[in-house]
Formats: sequence, structure tokens, C-alpha cells
Amino acid sequence: MSGTTQAPAIDGWWATDESGSPHLVGARCPQCGTYVFPPRANNCPNPACAGDELEQVPLSRRGTLWSYTENRYAPPPPYPAPDPFEPFAVAAVALADEGLIVLGKVVEGTLAADLKVGMEMELTTMTLFVDDEGVERTVYAWRIAE
Ligand SMILES: [Zn+2]
Repeated sequence: MSGTTQAPAIDGWWATDESGSPHLVGARCPQCGTYVFPPRANNCPNPACAGDELEQVPLSRRGTLWSYTENRYAPPPPYPAPDPFEPFAVAAVALADEGLIVLGKVVEGTLAADLKVGMEMELTTMTLFVDDEGVERTVYAWRIAE
């Protein structure tokens, strides 16, 4: 590996622990315990709750594949599109502890034919594109858990 610089393509949606393992960063309402992803500072998503301050919390690194699709077209924001565009799988992964379903790209080399609902998936990161300054912009992604 060279001394390539890496930086998230989207700030604040995931973090890395001391062992180098990435996890998503969500927000949790301290009043009713509802989680939300991506994280935000206020507005509890629970319509029955008046909570207005959400706290940032790490989310589970693993979840169960709930649904998936294969995208053959350039993705919508916030994902900048690599050029040339390559088809990729998108997974909706259920995090049981949080009661959340988190959409994300699936790592390169894994397409819809490799996936099956109910599989255990784990969070990783991948390089999305290299920007004009040569910085590798990374994004969180799902991969089939080992
Ligand atoms: Zn709440």
C-alpha cells in the first residue's frame, strides 16, 4: 500500500473503532429509545414521542439481509457515481437491536445472484472514487458476513 489518503465520501455516517472495524453512527431518542439512521440531532422519528434531542450512538456491525436489488444505473445522491459506472448490488439490512433497516451498497464483486434474504451481513467500507486531489473517498458498504 502506498501512502494514499482516505476520507469519507459522506461525513458522520460511520466511524471506526480501535481495532479498525467500521460501524454505522445512528441517533437514538433518549425518551423512547427509537433509533434513526442517518444520524441527526433532533426530531424523534416516533410520531407518538415529543422527544426533540437525539443522541449519537454506534449501531450494530451485523444485521440480516432483508431485501436487495441490483442497480444498473448511476446511483442517486448522496452516492457520487463512479465513472465508468459499474452495476452494483444494494442491500437493505435489518439491525435487530435497533429495529432499523439500513440501505447500503454491497461490496464490489458481490451481485444480486450471490445474495439471499436472511443472510448475515456485516459492515465494511469501500473506496467509492478518487477525488481531484487524489484522496480515496470511502463509503460504508455491506458484505456477506464471514
Ligand atoms: Zn422519541
